[in-house]
Amino acid sequence: MIDGIETPTAARETGAGLVNLVGLDRAGMGQAMAELGLPAFRARQVWHWIYHRGARGFDEMTTLAKPVRAMLAQRCAIVRPGIVREQTSSDRTRKWLLRAPGGGEVETVYIPEEDRGALCLSSQVGCALTCTFCHTGTQDLVRNLDSADIVGQLLVARDSYGEWPSPSNGTRLLSNIVMMGMGEPLLNYANVARALTIIMDQEGIAISKRRITLSTAGYVPNIRRCGEELGVNLAISLHAVTDELRDQLVPINRKFPIAELLAACRDYPGANNARRITFEYIMLKGVNDSAADARALVRLIKGIPAKVNLIPFNAWPGAPFDCSTAAVIRRFSEIVNDAGYSAPVRIPRGRDILAACGQLKSATERARRAGA
Ligand code: SAH
Repeated sequence: MIDGIETPTAARETGAGLVNLVGLDRAGMGQAMAELGLPAFRARQVWHWIYHRGARGFDEMTTLAKPVRAMLAQRCAIVRPGIVREQTSSDRTRKWLLRAPGGGEVETVYIPEEDRGALCLSSQVGCALTCTFCHTGTQDLVRNLDSADIVGQLLVARDSYGEWPSPSNGTRLLSNIVMMGMGEPLLNYANVARALTIIMDQEGIAISKRRITLSTAGYVPNIRRCGEELGVNLAISLHAVTDELRDQLVPINRKFPIAELLAACRDYPGANNARRITFEYIMLKGVNDSAADARALVRLIKGIPAKVNLIPFNAWPGAPFDCSTAAVIRRFSEIVNDAGYSAPVRIPRGRDILAACGQLKSATERARRAGA
């Protein structure tokens, strides 16, 4: 179960026998153009149109000669995920239920702040990790998303906010990316890496690695690689301070226990006081929220450039946990803070549309059951 099943790199054909250009990396795009007998500079032009200008069709690509556009339209496609549903919360959080080009449905969430915001992308349909507090975890892994499915989520969100051509960094609503949606990104490393490489490319979507955070439940073998090859910020879903408890809450811990996970964090390339590792800690009433837990957490992360995000548990029907009380969360936060670590309590966003942490996808399944 643990070893990632990874889908191949090659250009995927759409149902109509067309090659989908979305999700190809630079080399893949060059190869796709070469196969059509087009020179390398065409690949750069098409890249610019798709990822900087947001072109949805070849007729928009006015820097290409008409016959080239016509040939591209005959052989290739620019496929975005289909929007099954788009909902906006009373707090302006927006959630899309998307039909992935590669099959299956995924959810993508945009969390706005004052003048910027984070887009939360999914990496898998379902999840194999069975974390007991997570609703996605109660669903089986259906499949890995490929790079077209992952980049496609971002294209849809940018369409929705009209952020084409790519605005300069200071003025973007979609300024940050968090790989914190459905699935475990480090168990689908190749596709996630390809998608993030496309997203970071300076001549396209151009979101810098400093504005991208990848969250993992702790698939240790790919942590170093993620730092070396992608250099993005790392978040760890820690949630418990003993192996005994973490084995129960986050079962991947049985394979990669806390000591190994923290060793990988200490070695994470690029982590320093300016770029801290985030430890996510879900607040479960009477389970992991005592003052002693808070003190143990501080001891565990000692020496790691770290910050702690305290996440109030988001309930779902049948969940075997309750959220800690506000007073208990405050006490926990103060202990971690007093030890010198920032420990903000995350305000749940988008709960009314089931867009908060751990609530993704479940709504779809429920709606379908209810409607069936
Ligand atoms: N598999 C990766 C990516 C998912 S990120 C990971 O585990 O890090 C989603 C975050 O939401 C994780 O920190 C996860 O532990 C947390 N989460 C899951 N269910 C939740 C719930 N019901 N309430 C609050 N947070 C939850």
